[in-house]
Amino acid sequence: MLYNDFQNERLSALGFGAMRLPLTPGGEIDREELDRMVDAALAAGVNYFDTAYAYHGGRSENAIGASLRRYPRESWNLADKFPGHQNVKGVRPMQPAEVFEDQLKKCGVDYFDFYLLHNVCESSLTYYYGEKTGECLDYFLEQKAKGRIRHLGFSSHATAETLEKFLDQYGERLEFCQIQLNYVDWRLQNAEKKVALLRAHGIPLWVMEPVRGGKLAKLGPEIEAKMRALRPEESTPAWAFRWLRTLPKPTMILSGMSNLAQMEDNLKTFSEDRPLNAEETALLEEAAASLARMIPCTGCRYCCAGCPMGLQIPDLLSIANDMAVARSFNVVSRYTILGESKQASACIGCGRCEMVCPQKIAVPEELRKLAALMETQKTWEEVCAERAAITEAAKREKQ
Ligand code: SF4
Ligand code: SF4
Repeated sequence: MLYNDFQNERLSALGFGAMRLPLTPGGEIDREELDRMVDAALAAGVNYFDTAYAYHGGRSENAIGASLRRYPRESWNLADKFPGHQNVKGVRPMQPAEVFEDQLKKCGVDYFDFYLLHNVCESSLTYYYGEKTGECLDYFLEQKAKGRIRHLGFSSHATAETLEKFLDQYGERLEFCQIQLNYVDWRLQNAEKKVALLRAHGIPLWVMEPVRGGKLAKLGPEIEAKMRALRPEESTPAWAFRWLRTLPKPTMILSGMSNLAQMEDNLKTFSEDRPLNAEETALLEEAAASLARMIPCTGCRYCCAGCPMGLQIPDLLSIANDMAVARSFNVVSRYTILGESKQASACIGCGRCEMVCPQKIAVPEELRKLAALMETQKTWEEVCAERAAITEAAKREKQ
């Protein structure tokens, strides 16, 4: 395992993000598979695990806490986050003390090694952090003084301009910052400037979404064939991690792994340092250019809870992206099977999703386009009727 120094700590370069944990067929967190993943991670030297109040509808903290507690407390670091970004106008904001005590209980720990203000961004600054950051920091710094938090930082999906203002105001009180960083967002979300800002403020960099919610794990047959020609032994996600290692080193790279196979692949990637060479970097830039045209949804699901129509927004956006690549009947039937009340056409355009989306996706507009596109597609029944007619015609011809 590769390691990085942070203050007087030695942190594994790979951290296990508990946002996309393995699921049973019934949709519950698969605790047995999770234990296997945690066992493999710890055995390979991973010592950083990251959860949040909102992950898996509030169930991630219990699951990862229980899995880690099978091992001595000093053998792992646990990071958790205060969900200030979930506060919306008109609703009593979540109180730091209430949430924090609940989180310690859910994780079954006396302290968090790392604790973050979750997702400082334009909407969370408008509805919560804008007024409350000072108060929050006072409370969490008090917990730090009591030994209940060892390191305090923040995560952010803000634009570089907003991040700069926040750092100017609060940077001195925070020890690290987690941002979305990968070879597509380097330009798409101006992550290059954010990294420069953090360096200028002397704040160590934590990376989230290194594989962009799995989008960089599948790049399409053409690019992947070129990758295999250069590095036959390397998986597609490994390229994204290795690109990150070409940057001035991030302290932590979090990966939200969902099964043991992904864990094992990542452990292999982080077992030795092999930054990309110029030819490999150029190939990823080619991949980034084609992916940047897609809807940049990472599947974080922050938007789902507030949708009055109960739409599974990331699933709809994934369908839209798939349709952009290839309009197959499989994709259309994935959409049809949802039923009218859960299709893009059910969106009432209230915009609540757009306000909380860290990727700043114009969701109502994308859903409007998807609904219009799907109107023009043949239904499965029509396809079946067409195929039956063709078969009949062929039979008649033979007779
Ligand atoms: S705009 Fe549409 S998708 Fe977004 S929250 Fe409102 S109804 Fe749901
Ligand atoms: S639309 Fe935005 S908030 Fe919703 S899942 Fe995608 S990235 Fe997350």
